[in-house]
Amino acid sequence: MQPFIYTALPARVIFGFGTIEQLPAEVRALGAARAFVVFTAQQSATGEELARRLGPLAAGTFAGAAMHTPVEVTGRALQQLRACEADCIVALGGGSSTGLGKALALRTDLPQIVIPTTYAGSEATPILGETQGGLKTTQRSLAVLPEVILYDVDLSLTLPPGISAASGLNAMAHAIEALYARDTNPLISALAVQAVAALGKALPILVDSPRDREARSDALYGAWLGGVCLGSVGMALHHKLCHTLGGSFDLPHAETHAVLLPYTVAYNAGAARHAMQRVAEALGVGDAAQGLYALGRRLGVPASLAALGLPESGLDRAADLAAANPYWNPRPIERDAIRALLSDAFHGRPPTSARSQER
Ligand code: NAD
Repeated sequence: MQPFIYTALPARVIFGFGTIEQLPAEVRALGAARAFVVFTAQQSATGEELARRLGPLAAGTFAGAAMHTPVEVTGRALQQLRACEADCIVALGGGSSTGLGKALALRTDLPQIVIPTTYAGSEATPILGETQGGLKTTQRSLAVLPEVILYDVDLSLTLPPGISAASGLNAMAHAIEALYARDTNPLISALAVQAVAALGKALPILVDSPRDREARSDALYGAWLGGVCLGSVGMALHHKLCHTLGGSFDLPHAETHAVLLPYTVAYNAGAARHAMQRVAEALGVGDAAQGLYALGRRLGVPASLAALGLPESGLDRAADLAAANPYWNPRPIERDAIRALLSDAFHGRPPTSARSQER
């Protein structure tokens, strides 16, 4: 056993079918009586229904959560939260709603209950990314870590197959990078392997049968584990590249993860052999990168960065940006090799295996 340090994050997690029934009791258990409920405009019907379910425990609703947590949106929500004298935050939805809930908690110190309906995993992390004037900044603070996560599998049944697939691969990316993180530990590695296996099994079923409750349950469970991985250990090349492409070229979050994952795994394959072997075993394939590429095609996620709208002229700048601020990665960040990786991903070619030293 290698030496390690493990710091547990506090969380109360309720997981199951129909668990939404428990929401009023969870609000009261926080010592709260006036919940401010946030969600996206697309999930207004479910959000308003949730507020009705809370009855007198609902102080107000806000249907304007948006991708990448713009501070202007947070400012508007904060005004409403204060006006209705809320004493806790309930966030319903994907990473966009969770992000708004966290941003409000940071500014008010109110407790949060998050009800996730995608596989982004943000609910399990003390991380908040916010955008202002087109710039995204990320911070880590226990002040944004939700007190309660309420997973109700039934609420994920309506997630469209395309978003389910991309979001599920986003969750898988958290787990895969955790397996080769510099500060990984045996507990997180065990969760990561379970996450890859659960998502690898569930996602192909979901794209064919989006209302398959057992597959939905496996996927949501895998998403939670992926979120725990993301919140507990440092991420590397894959997350940095996605952050660069999302921030500088405005590419969609989950889909960018889905496109890039086979290529970043191929880049690191030779330098993190044991981790990649565990990924391959969890997926039941011979090679992690090729297996993930095949899984992406099977799930029908966008096949290339070109399909996400990245202009070919942006590849050099993306490679420069990715190599500009050095960060830890199992294989050193080599600008030309990153450029080649991006070129493969731009065209959607099968990933080329890395030729790098063993870790
Ligand atoms: P999202 O929250 O924007 O959701 C995608 C779309 O799916 C939205 O239109 C939403 O309304 C809809 N939707 C969600 N659940 C649904 C359901 N059950 N049925 C029907 N429609 C549904 O996207 P996302 O990928 O979940 O989250 C992305 C955001 O989360 C980004 O801003 C990203 O930076 C952030 N994120 C943060 C962390 C963190 O730890 N801080 C981790 C992962 C992602």
